[in-house]
Amino acid sequence: MSVEPQLDTSPKVGDEIRKTTCYMCACRCGINVHLRDGAIRYIEGNRDHPVNRGVLCAKGSAGIMQHYSPARLRSPMKRVGPRGSGAFEAISWDEALETATDWLAPIRKTDPKKLAFFTGRDQSQALTGWWAQQFGTPNFAAHGGFCSVNMAAGGIYTIGGAFWEFGSPDWDLTEMFVLFGVAEDHDSNPIKIGLGKLKGRGKRVVSVNPVQTGYAAISDDWYGVTPGTDGLLIISLIRELMRSGKIDVDYLRRYTNAPWLVIRNPGAANDGLFLRDGDGEPQVLDRTSGKAVSHKTKGVSVALQGEVKVKGGGVAVPVFEIMTETYMDDAYAPEAVTDTVGISAERIRRFAADLADAAFAKEVVVDQPWTDWKGERHDKMIGRPVSMHAMRGISAHSNGFQTCRALHVLQLMLGSVEAPGGFRFKPPYPKPPHAHPKPAGRPDQVAAGKALGGAPLGYVLGPEDLVVGPGGEPQRIDKAYSWDAPMSAHGLMHMVISNAVAGDPYPVDVLFMYMANMAWNSSMNTRGVMDMLTETDSETGEYKIPKIIYSDAYSSEMVAYADLILPDTTYLERHDAISLLDRPICEADGVADAIRWPVIEPDRDVRGFQSVLLDLGARLGLPGMVKEDGSPAYKDYGDYIVNHQRKPGIGPLAGFRGANGKSEGRGDVNPGQLDAYIENGSFWHTDIPAEARYYKMANQAYQDFAVDMGFYDSPQPYAFQIYSETLQKFRLAAEGHGDNQPPEHLRERVKTCFTPLPSWYAPFEGASLDEAAFPLHALTQRPMAMYHSWGSQNPWLRQIHGHNPMFVSKALAREHNLEDGDWIWVTSHHGKIRVPVAVMAGVNDKTIWTWNAIGKRKGAWQLDEDAPEAKKGFLLNHLIHELLPPKGDGQRWSNSDPITGQAAWFDLRVQIVKAGPDEPAESAPQFAPLPRMNGAGKPDATLRYGLQWTKTAGKKAGDSK
Ligand code: SF4
Repeated sequence: MSVEPQLDTSPKVGDEIRKTTCYMCACRCGINVHLRDGAIRYIEGNRDHPVNRGVLCAKGSAGIMQHYSPARLRSPMKRVGPRGSGAFEAISWDEALETATDWLAPIRKTDPKKLAFFTGRDQSQALTGWWAQQFGTPNFAAHGGFCSVNMAAGGIYTIGGAFWEFGSPDWDLTEMFVLFGVAEDHDSNPIKIGLGKLKGRGKRVVSVNPVQTGYAAISDDWYGVTPGTDGLLIISLIRELMRSGKIDVDYLRRYTNAPWLVIRNPGAANDGLFLRDGDGEPQVLDRTSGKAVSHKTKGVSVALQGEVKVKGGGVAVPVFEIMTETYMDDAYAPEAVTDTVGISAERIRRFAADLADAAFAKEVVVDQPWTDWKGERHDKMIGRPVSMHAMRGISAHSNGFQTCRALHVLQLMLGSVEAPGGFRFKPPYPKPPHAHPKPAGRPDQVAAGKALGGAPLGYVLGPEDLVVGPGGEPQRIDKAYSWDAPMSAHGLMHMVISNAVAGDPYPVDVLFMYMANMAWNSSMNTRGVMDMLTETDSETGEYKIPKIIYSDAYSSEMVAYADLILPDTTYLERHDAISLLDRPICEADGVADAIRWPVIEPDRDVRGFQSVLLDLGARLGLPGMVKEDGSPAYKDYGDYIVNHQRKPGIGPLAGFRGANGKSEGRGDVNPGQLDAYIENGSFWHTDIPAEARYYKMANQAYQDFAVDMGFYDSPQPYAFQIYSETLQKFRLAAEGHGDNQPPEHLRERVKTCFTPLPSWYAPFEGASLDEAAFPLHALTQRPMAMYHSWGSQNPWLRQIHGHNPMFVSKALAREHNLEDGDWIWVTSHHGKIRVPVAVMAGVNDKTIWTWNAIGKRKGAWQLDEDAPEAKKGFLLNHLIHELLPPKGDGQRWSNSDPITGQAAWFDLRVQIVKAGPDEPAESAPQFAPLPRMNGAGKPDATLRYGLQWTKTAGKKAGDSK
């Protein structure tokens, strides 16, 4: 019997198809939602969409179950029992919004910073950040501080962009693709599509990760690096490339600050700064004249070695000379680093040779003339076809910022950033730090009843930009942009609750959070955070955080700890802008943005959070959110997306602008803009001209294109910053120069860690513990089928991961006599958890790991109390503290990167012991079950299905009841 292939069923089934954007993870693929009789039948990928070209992952297709989840909140609620008890009463939206307004209005009138407003992995930070600014509080950030700010900030400060939303590999031309510390499924469909292309062309995929799962499982080479040592490995690779002369010297001269002159004047206030001319331009050494000239001088032949005398004292040498002195040190030789990084010297050398071979023996040439920013014409584009992608694995360490910078320097040594075959920026990047705003929040920028004097988040360029008081004291509740974490571009969300409860630097009155499960998987020290959220003042009996407003679509663990719940819609029931003002969906060859729109109406008393925020803003009379007569400026978020202008002609969406809908980038408001997007599949896309597609940071055609599109108001060409003068300025301050210096207890740390060339130092937690007592590293990875906690209540996805085992290597299993399904105790300096084990090959022998955020608290997310997620699932978070172990110096140091404040999740050190034969087969710790909290009075369904790993070696068995 022949079976007809039926690949394209969508035209035949007679459904109504509505095209929108997926939000089952943060990749923003295009989807076709099939509806019949007002209900969703299924979801498929949109074949025309630039992000996924029709590809849909397991998460994306399970969106239907997310939409119909019993865990959805159904109504606004107010707390009627003790905080944490989960006792709520459904209330009307009028009451909810009046309550929120009554709480927020007095703060704004007296001291706006008493509001701490923090959001999770939402995609509307252009709105939420603006809202915080208009309210007047500096206490705003999203989840970046506990996710991967090191990757983002390391990228911006070094090359003007980073991976994922900022750039991508040149999939069509690359010869070798290297992944550093990438989760099983990061940047999900785009990377899978790219990997498919590479494998189809027979190209090399290399993974550097302590764990060989996900993308690493299909890599040609796997380097199972010891956690926290990636920076040392990378610097060793740099040394090998320099030693063998396999670096792109011409590229370094043209596009980086390798030739810029650095002053050497030990002890002086200008030591380590760039030698600048009268106009403030950095200078280079002209090989022809032997003199220092501006780096902008057309046709100059720059030297990478040499020396000039500096007026007033000292000499100046090119950055490259300092690089040579620094990185050729024997301390970085493969033999010297092998024990620490866990990779043999021979393999490190082979790795460097493979990089060199791909970059230089397989050079690609694109026959496309172009003109650089100095006006020099080039007749072709020469490419070094090595591309890279990195993420949280290398960044969530206390040395992560410098490691991320080191990785970008490795790319630059190979000449493979913005060159054919290499890593390429996606608009609106590249954008160097000086093209970003500086953060606002100093005392002169915060005033009662006024908007903040600038955006709350930004990029500092030196101590003068810190958000501190006259005595250097932190001004933000998370202490971002203070000496604790000077370059904390995404804030420190993981410190907000503990600082607010401690009243350090001050107490807050309202904590307002969106999509941030702080009472569970989004916090270090989860039990401690639950206690803090319920901690009361011993004199007044009031909660130390007096009022908590929380918005989410689902009854997560955090709901129980809020006082007022503003229920959000699912992603299929609301408007969203995936905006160039925020994190768009551009590709290296094209500019694109997208929307979501209500493809189905809510059947509950819920509202999209962004519309609620605008409503609240209008009730509070925030500037920009009310008209002159005091009425709301915007009907809802959809209205805002169309009509809001950040500056004339620039709005949340770049497509279909202008009265006739034909303008792109800049243009007047178009009342029909959303309809035009919907008509076009909910996205807009335009190609970058061929001449502008590479070397964007130095390409005149791209710079002009970027100005036309509204990315900048004037061209912003720049050189990549291998040597960071910003870091050196902080170090000079720590050495006693300037008006703004760190407090005594931080001086040494700033001097050590803020090196202007990327460096490696041992992660703080390991360095502060007895390694023999805590010999293992413990990590989490996001699983392929779930996006943090979003998916682990989804009935379809739960059948893939019903709970999370702790994976251990075969060697470790032998050492501890462990088999699949056995239970172990895992102990850190802070806590203890009992967890089930699974044995695997392909993991660094000093590392154990598990999937993130699958473990659930009993009763939360409408899961049955016997759900495997609660009984066998677990969180590693219980072992991690937001503070480092006491050092005996009277200080408790933050468990964060000292430069950016990134939460150092992956510095965790543990020991393991097999659980006793009589112990229960249940994960520990357990917490009191939470009651149903969806605002419906009683649950309309309970989720009871999930898969469990069993004692039967390596097999999975259904656990349906
Ligand atoms: S990769 Fe993410 S955005 Fe794309 S279909 Fe899967 S879940 Fe949706």
